[in-house]
Amino acid sequence: MKITSVAAVLLKPWPWVLVKVRTDAGFTGIGEAYHGAGVHNIVIDPRLTERALIGQDPRNVDKLFRDMKNSMSASGFYQGAVMSAISGIETALWDIAGQAMNVPIWQLLGGSFRDQIRVYNDCNEGEDADDPASWVEKAKHVEARGFDALKFDIDPRPTQRDRYNRTIRNADVAFFIDVVTAIRESLHPDTDLAIDAHWRYAPADILKVAYAFEALDLLWLEDPIPPENVAALREVKTATRTPICTGENLYTRHGFRELVEHQAADIISPDLAKAGGLSEGRRIADLADTYYIPVAPHNICGPIGTIASCHACAAMPNFHVLEFHHLDNELWNSMTVERDLIQNGRINVPREAGLGVRLDESVVREATADEVGGFFD
Ligand code: MG
Repeated sequence: MKITSVAAVLLKPWPWVLVKVRTDAGFTGIGEAYHGAGVHNIVIDPRLTERALIGQDPRNVDKLFRDMKNSMSASGFYQGAVMSAISGIETALWDIAGQAMNVPIWQLLGGSFRDQIRVYNDCNEGEDADDPASWVEKAKHVEARGFDALKFDIDPRPTQRDRYNRTIRNADVAFFIDVVTAIRESLHPDTDLAIDAHWRYAPADILKVAYAFEALDLLWLEDPIPPENVAALREVKTATRTPICTGENLYTRHGFRELVEHQAADIISPDLAKAGGLSEGRRIADLADTYYIPVAPHNICGPIGTIASCHACAAMPNFHVLEFHHLDNELWNSMTVERDLIQNGRINVPREAGLGVRLDESVVREATADEVGGFFD
């Protein structure tokens, strides 16, 4: 079996990127790459397609992953948009391999540890960001729809004194504590609550918040400080009993090595649609498992990337919970032939061969902002 073509689409309004890999054996693989500047164009860059993929056996997934990296290495592109493109292609290769061997992808990643993937709903903020009651209302609404894990954001308030020095004024510290306490108290004790700080704060300032959160038994506090300094994050992590989560800005196992070896996070959150794909996700999880660190993948993908992540999550012993970002997004729910993939905060691990879900191409076509390489041919 040989790869004959690689194509991609950029969708709208949410800029999801879908990848299609075709073969001479009748199998077509679908993947999703994390969106970003030009990712769908990189997917069909000749350095990836002609130099690494076309004419090759798609079932040699790990070899082709290395070939794609090596083909791009002359430009030093091991990260960012290039690795996102490679991740989407890698998923499509696994889809082909699974179909060709008539097994789900998770089977090829070592087998499954679980039949369902627990999903947390990212709630952002309350409808009225200044009113804790509206945050509580949203939390209770989402919980009532079956989710037993939620996340809210504590982004800088409009009242922040200076957005460049990363400090938090006392009134904003008090607001974050008030609103998160109110949400926590409104939820069932067994419903998990995570909080995301989006890299915005100085260690000493976010620790004031993290200390107060200790009484709330949060699932985690995510990205309390900027993502590029492992030593600084380790200081934060060791200073508080509130679990610290990070990782959505890191690429490949090499990007996670220093973070994991320094045990600078309690939980890691790789985004499999950009960190290198499904095999690399499993490798990152195994690296984390050597320090007994659970993995809670970041995910803002459409249904293809989300289901792809589920295959990897099924095969990770240390999987914790998977992010979901698109509650009530009708496009998310209508892009696959299979509907209502998330029920009661869980996704059933697919049993069908390959990815196990099929694109509804008429819906995808309708939502296409740009097509390259003949996606719909
Ligand atoms: Mg985040």
